Amino acid sequence: MKITDVRAMYLRLPEIKSRTDSSQDALIIEVETDEGLIGYGEVDSCPSVAKAIIDAPTSHTQVHGLRSLLLGEDPLQIRYLWNKMYQGTLYYGRSGAVIHAMAGVDLALWDLKGKALGQPVHSLLGGAFQRSIPAYASHMFGFTPQETAERAKQAVDGGFRAVKFGWEPFGRDAAEDEAQVRAIRNAVGQSTRVMIDVGLAWDAPTTIQRAKLLQPYDVFWLEEPVPPDDLVGYAWIAGQLEQRLAAGEQECTAQGFVQLMDRAKVDVVQIDMTRVGITQAMVIAEMAFQRGIKVCNHAFTTRLNTAAAAHFLAAIPNALMLEYCVEPGELTQKLVRSDSVLEDGNVRVGDDPGLGVSLDREVIDKYRI
Ligand SMILES: [Mg+2]
Repeated sequence: MKITDVRAMYLRLPEIKSRTDSSQDALIIEVETDEGLIGYGEVDSCPSVAKAIIDAPTSHTQVHGLRSLLLGEDPLQIRYLWNKMYQGTLYYGRSGAVIHAMAGVDLALWDLKGKALGQPVHSLLGGAFQRSIPAYASHMFGFTPQETAERAKQAVDGGFRAVKFGWEPFGRDAAEDEAQVRAIRNAVGQSTRVMIDVGLAWDAPTTIQRAKLLQPYDVFWLEEPVPPDDLVGYAWIAGQLEQRLAAGEQECTAQGFVQLMDRAKVDVVQIDMTRVGITQAMVIAEMAFQRGIKVCNHAFTTRLNTAAAAHFLAAIPNALMLEYCVEPGELTQKLVRSDSVLEDGNVRVGDDPGLGVSLDREVIDKYRI
């Protein structure tokens, strides 16, 4: 079997709001073979840049577009192809959008391998430690505590036993932050896990002050309180915080995650399949396991991301929870159908070959650029 085409489809909602909400567009990857099989992947990055990285013509031996590196290759040799893409983009790659684009191809290759061998991806990864992964409903904060509380209530009524809220308007004012978290706790009751994604809004001393203020509301983790490069700040926070410290969505390399674990001292690493890829994610999860660190996914795009995360988290011994984006946009809710489905607050990983996903052509036609 040989790869005959690699395509990147850019889909975008008609109106892009000025929010930190990556569910407003999507970049879907298709890897096609001479046997007619197609593998599907996704990239969460700057979509038009990641698309250019796939389509670019060769410039020299260390500056290729990904498509030109993949054409004619055997799609089943995934680790080999990861290395070929890494070496063939070395001059402009090694991190950022190039790794994001490689991650999207990597997901498509795992999907393709599963389809070719008639196996679900979790089985190819070594087998499922769990078939049903506790999920949390992941939201943007409402602009008022009332709006946030309504969303939290809806999640719990829908069967979720864990909720997360993140980003603006959180982080700007101590009293408003406390009001937001109090509203969530009051809405969900005592037995629901509540996570807060600070969205990089604080510095290290502010994090310690606000974390104390939030202690009565039993926050399970505080996520990304400070900028991702402030490793010293993270380590200082980690030494004092009562709550768990979570981070990882800004990272896309194994090296970046080693820094987060060993220098920043986070308690939970969050790996985005569409920015890291399954091949690297398995390596990172093993390093986390050796350090006694729990692993979650990060996913705020389509159900393809969620499905890839379900297969990955099922196949590692140190999975904690699955992030399940509940933003209402059609790209999140309708573009991808998956056999890894939400049941009573858990995602049950599917058994269809590959990632078990299919695309809705009507949604593609509606939003494709
Ligand atoms: Mg986050």
